[in-house]
Amino acid sequence: MAGKSKICFARVIRRLIFYGVLFAVFCSQATAGQKTHTVFFEGEENELHVYRIFGAEPGKTLLVVGGIQGDEPGGFLAADFFADMTLEKGNLIVVPRANFPSILKKERQINQDMNRKFMDDHTSNYEAEVVQVLKKLICESDCFLNLHEGSGFYSHTWDGVDRNPEKFGQSIIADEAYLKQGENQPGLDLEKMALEVIRTINSGIPDEAHYFHFNNHKTSHPDSLHKEQRRSATYYAMNICKIPAFGIESAKSLPLEQKIRQHILAVNGFLALMDIKPRTPGIDLEKPEMQYMIISVNDSIPVVVGKMQRLKIKQGDVIQIHDIVANYERGLSVDVIGVGNEFNDMKKKLKIVEPTRIEAKKDFYACGSVFLDIQDKRGTGDLNRLSLSDSEKSDELRYKLKINGKTRIVENYGRVNLNFGDRLIIVDVISGDIDPSAYIVNFKGFVGNSSLNTGEDRGYVIDTGAGVLLPRYSLEKQGRRYHVVTTLGGNEVGKIFIDIQS
Ligand SMILES: [Zn+2]
Repeated sequence: MAGKSKICFARVIRRLIFYGVLFAVFCSQATAGQKTHTVFFEGEENELHVYRIFGAEPGKTLLVVGGIQGDEPGGFLAADFFADMTLEKGNLIVVPRANFPSILKKERQINQDMNRKFMDDHTSNYEAEVVQVLKKLICESDCFLNLHEGSGFYSHTWDGVDRNPEKFGQSIIADEAYLKQGENQPGLDLEKMALEVIRTINSGIPDEAHYFHFNNHKTSHPDSLHKEQRRSATYYAMNICKIPAFGIESAKSLPLEQKIRQHILAVNGFLALMDIKPRTPGIDLEKPEMQYMIISVNDSIPVVVGKMQRLKIKQGDVIQIHDIVANYERGLSVDVIGVGNEFNDMKKKLKIVEPTRIEAKKDFYACGSVFLDIQDKRGTGDLNRLSLSDSEKSDELRYKLKINGKTRIVENYGRVNLNFGDRLIIVDVISGDIDPSAYIVNFKGFVGNSSLNTGEDRGYVIDTGAGVLLPRYSLEKQGRRYHVVTTLGGNEVGKIFIDIQS
């Protein structure tokens, strides 16, 4: 299972803590802020999504499971919030929807109650497959929470048909009050743990009739009211994996928002007990990456164009970019190179007269390109159909320049002769299946943007007669021969030479 090695690694680190700094550094590199998302039974009806979140510092691991019974949305909707969390210390494993088929039907169970299959069960069905995965996850964790909605209101005393010791709602359930983990180890006071969390939950509940209570099922006792729980996930956790385990039960009859909020407070409470520290707010500087652009041509039905794909259009077609899909939601924009305005070309209708590239950006980071190719005028293909193709591999790098408004393509290491006063724009590089936005194209001696300190000079008007060039950067220091250096990942991959005659 993905991520397992990292958890083991964190445990090893804890044992070797006397090695101090060296291991601390090593560990933070291996685990810091990582998240994994594993999909089990992909494409099957019982698709199972497991999110693992590793804190920057090692610590305990809490497992949160929602939706083991599909008619209890308070649990799985609360679990969703934790799947997106980042941690400062400790780890989380989140399975928001353990029983997806039953969620789709909003039913407690499909073939069998999934929460009665953890002990002494030999019926094969999709529920059994999911339970196998959950069992592994439980034994990998230091504490387990099963998020439910329960009927009625639990009360230690009999206060009516809807409020009595047989009911589940508004309680934190444990199978025992006390967990003995090993021969010589001190046991764990589960009741004390639950009561501490219950205090936090109740402080946010205005109506005393809705207060949470500790609900000890005494599951293995001969006089237990809940012998059926001897096959549940928490019972497995306590008896096989020897870890503290709790059922968190919001009362079914309460408004959904309140149920979700209670579950969130409960999980937060256990995170605090386990010394697992959330990062607030979560800081995740994942590299921005565009996946798709949604583009229409002459008001056609929009087409989905993937990163580095090429859309074939005709000269003079009007394109409109409706949206982009990236690993970020905010700060996204597009730039149709050489067309539109200098900020954002999203949603604008733009007439395209020559081949170009559309660059997606997240804030000021370029994060992916698609290309617009102009179809051969004599082409006889189906003119009503938009055709897409992938970029082909190419070892050659070329430059698309505009000199006094006229387009010119220059080979790598080529030479360009300009007259003093000519206006040059380095429009783009043409680079096969490598994203042009991955390159930096730097006109040595010209500063395009002094605050975005990358050296990137594509797109600026370089007026050779306006005193914007710095002769000391020219090759002979006299301001007659400049060069434009192209790098990819910090390595020089090409250049062109610019001669300026006065
Ligand atoms: Zn339930």
